[in-house]
Amino acid sequence: MPKVSTVVTDLLDIELKLLVPFTNSKNHHLMECLICGNQFTATPIAKLQAFKKYHNKGCPKCSEERKKSKESDAKLQFIQKIRDRNYDILTENYDGNQVCDLITVRRQECGHVFDIKPTNLIHRNVICPLCSKKEK
Ligand SMILES: [Zn+2]
Ligand SMILES: [Zn+2]
Repeated sequence: MPKVSTVVTDLLDIELKLLVPFTNSKNHHLMECLICGNQFTATPIAKLQAFKKYHNKGCPKCSEERKKSKESDAKLQFIQKIRDRNYDILTENYDGNQVCDLITVRRQECGHVFDIKPTNLIHRNVICPLCSKKEK
């Protein structure tokens, strides 16, 4: 069992401040999230383990939001990557999900429209299937 002082400072390291005197890392404590000010109850041990495993700082709400914004960042970047390759995305409501099935794109260079798996567009050097047919 870690010493009291270590637990309290370890918690501060992950942006959590105990609002009640520390008793035992397996007991529930009221704590405050130093990132958003949210107050909630949790056991120090669970929070410290979650940090070790997932690098979650702050309260559950903060971790959740960070996860969400990370996901949507990745999706936006993915869409941007497709655009950087000079493709217009014609699929309505495509949200940047990399594991979805086919999406419809238009290659700006030739104006051809075709369906393709988004990952193929990025990870393989596909060129327009209609143009490559013509070349053969
Ligand atoms: Zn928070
Ligand atoms: Zn083409």
